[in-house]
Amino acid sequence: MFKEFIQGLSITLKHLSPKHITTVQYPRVRLQVSDRFRGLHRLVPTQDREKCVACYLCPTVCPAKCITVESAENEKGEKYPKVYQIDMLRCIFCGYCVEACPVEAIEMSGQYELANYKREQFIFDKKRLLETK
Ligand code: SF4
Ligand code: SF4
Repeated sequence: MFKEFIQGLSITLKHLSPKHITTVQYPRVRLQVSDRFRGLHRLVPTQDREKCVACYLCPTVCPAKCITVESAENEKGEKYPKVYQIDMLRCIFCGYCVEACPVEAIEMSGQYELANYKREQFIFDKKRLLETK
């Protein structure tokens, strides 16, 4: 009985050591997410525009049907997404859109702080997706 008590106490004391602390003082301290973490999407820019060529592959594979793309042509005859929008309330962060993109125009960032007050603030348009860090 005494032996078990000492064993239990030693486990408790071990977890008091800073080496074993597994929680952090969020939001003052933030955990570093893994490189494979699937957070908020980022549209990749090129020099003068977004890399996306509005091929419609990502909205086609998206199981949650939360991506809206509308294509247009610029003055050079290149296709670009006039509208590119993701409804984050429906997204399940599966990463299929990233896998499907033939030109690596969409990535998933390490950003996980998506809380907001209004439903419409969860609709991320092209501008917001291009600004994702
Ligand atoms: S991560 Fe999945 S659910 Fe979210 S937009 Fe991409 S394909 Fe759709
Ligand atoms: S798959 Fe890539 S290039 Fe095609 S619409 Fe989506 S982001 Fe744009």
